Amino acid sequence: MPDIIQLLPDNIANQIAAGEVIQRPASAVKELLENAVDAGATDIRLLIQDAGKQLIQVLDNGKGMSETDARMCFERHATSKIHQIDDLFRIRTMGFRGEALASIAAVAQVELKTKRAEDTTGTLLEVENSLVKRQEPIAANTGTSIAMKNLFFNIPARRNFLKSNAAETRHIVDEFIRVALSFPDIFFSLTANGTEMFHLEKGTLKQRIVQVLGNQYNAKLVTVQEQTDYLNIYGFVGKPEAAKKTRGDQYFFVNNRFIRSPYLNHAVMNAYQEMIAADSFPLYVLFIDLDPSQVDINVHPTKQEIKFEDEKIVYAFVQAAVKHALAQFSVTPTLEFDL
Ligand code: ADP
Ligand code: MG
Repeated sequence: MPDIIQLLPDNIANQIAAGEVIQRPASAVKELLENAVDAGATDIRLLIQDAGKQLIQVLDNGKGMSETDARMCFERHATSKIHQIDDLFRIRTMGFRGEALASIAAVAQVELKTKRAEDTTGTLLEVENSLVKRQEPIAANTGTSIAMKNLFFNIPARRNFLKSNAAETRHIVDEFIRVALSFPDIFFSLTANGTEMFHLEKGTLKQRIVQVLGNQYNAKLVTVQEQTDYLNIYGFVGKPEAAKKTRGDQYFFVNNRFIRSPYLNHAVMNAYQEMIAADSFPLYVLFIDLDPSQVDINVHPTKQEIKFEDEKIVYAFVQAAVKHALAQFSVTPTLEFDL
């Protein structure tokens, strides 16, 4: 009997891996926006057509890539962000797994234009099915543009599984808002089918929250700010009267990364105890900064779930910080709530 095990060709391996990283247009949006942030951009523009099914393009004015790096970036496990395993415990960038662009190039038709400040010409690259189809020098501004067309063109089952344009656009807007809230000192815009939906000038976190989540919060934000040797928490919580009947405007960022944490959500809700009706949801946009060695972000490919080294401390701290902030507002018992 002959031996039967073979290594899969790269394009097949990439396509399989892509299933985890790129589940829908919004996942690609998240990865491309995070790459632009990691590249030090101060101006990031997102363009979508047909809810991202036809086109997702991110243009940034970040540091760009050399000609060689422009080819390398589509290889699997190719990253400039970590070099050795210890780097994982010091990670400050959004990316580090080196699989987003490889995945995107396996499931869409990609056009990359990029130029570094020190280069006189830029590089244009077209990639499809993980194969470079065209490469040539081009004139370009410093920065990077990545356009991905016809997502899942080569995986009809995935493409058919996508939801309506309204639903996919909502997912994209969610990802866009998370990144935009996290970096108020970066200009962001989102243009859908030629119409600009968001145009977010640089500003303070408070200004960004109001720009993104709505003017109704303008006079309703309470500053949260506490620091210890172990961690720093800052951001805003909504005054109790601004709580909504629907869950939604609630954001945790750990070292600037949006995370989902029912556990920490509970800590905040606890701090509001008796100030809001049981079935309503306060706004919060909270940033927790701590030594990267104290969190494991490598729990899931999308990095939205993390593990804290000591989650009880973080819980206690979040609850105390929010309580403290709310206490500074004389919440008198005469306030009327539907309890
Ligand atoms: P990761 O972000 O995990 O490193 P990616 O596949 O997202 O992996 O990107 C691979 C590499 O390509 C990055 O490490 C970075 O060096 C480079 N890169 C990607 N996007 C950009 C960009 N917008 N500007 C400059 N470099 C980029
Ligand atoms: Mg990345």
